[in-house]
Amino acid sequence: MALVEVNDFSFAYPADGSPRRGGVGDRVFDGVSFEVNEGDFCVLVGSTGSGKTTLLRSLKPELAPEGSRTGSIVVVGKKVVEGGEMVSPKDPCGLSPRESASSIGFVTQSPEAQIVCDTVWHELAFGLENLGVEQDEMRRRVAEVAHFFGIGPWVRSSVEALSGGQKQLVNLAAVLALRPRLLLLDEPTSQLDPNALKQFLFMLGRVNRELGVTIIMATHTPEDVSAYATRTIAMGKIGDVGTREQVEAALNKRWQAWDADLAGKDARDARSCCVRVRGAMFR
Ligand code: ADP
Repeated sequence: MALVEVNDFSFAYPADGSPRRGGVGDRVFDGVSFEVNEGDFCVLVGSTGSGKTTLLRSLKPELAPEGSRTGSIVVVGKKVVEGGEMVSPKDPCGLSPRESASSIGFVTQSPEAQIVCDTVWHELAFGLENLGVEQDEMRRRVAEVAHFFGIGPWVRSSVEALSGGQKQLVNLAAVLALRPRLLLLDEPTSQLDPNALKQFLFMLGRVNRELGVTIIMATHTPEDVSAYATRTIAMGKIGDVGTREQVEAALNKRWQAWDADLAGKDARDARSCCVRVRGAMFR
């Protein structure tokens, strides 16, 4: 079953940075279509500026950037974008803020940026508190994720005392405490040292396999997740480098060198397309 359906989606930031002052900039990407099925571990690859962050944020209404759109997006069975317009959270077919908070998790690249509380325990409980989860259930869920992620020993610690890798695990655990169906990660390991990176990815593999959470993860280093990936979405540039079909063929043929082959040009000036590469291309 498709948990994410993106159809003919295009996006442009406002030309002058302010939608109110009008003006639509160049499209970041054009005519993106793909599906992610329940249970997939999907890797989103693309050079800096190809639109990975913009695409990931577009899937979660409260993080979606301001700008102009075309096409449609359906996430966890709810409409997020239809006919190029954001669907109102009040629409019965739209995604309410509560549903979005509980069913779509988001982890950014900075271990610090997402931390809001002083202690690990409060950090793990924060999202649940916001959703009004009753105290006993909240304690049970915090204990459950602390155990799953092996962070029980530092659950009473101050978050400040943790390493970057430990903070990022806490971010992941805090998001998982809400039991999301879909987890979006924007280069979550780019600031981690090699040991922390290994541990984070190992836990992510378990989250996918053992908890059944569907994952879409943007990364610069797809080879790191080769053991887990079931699907790859590659953001490749069209225009200077060829047609969509040529980009797709090149990505399929030599994924290792896709960046060098396809993204040599200034990313800010080139439009991107998104091509689907079926199956487990890294296996
Ligand atoms: P990636 O995550 O692949 O590095 P981004 O989605 O961050 O790509 O950026 C895609 C393009 O959109 C880039 O050219 C970037 O400069 C531009 N961009 C990103 N954020 C904004 C913004 N808030 N306003 C205008 N342009 C933006």
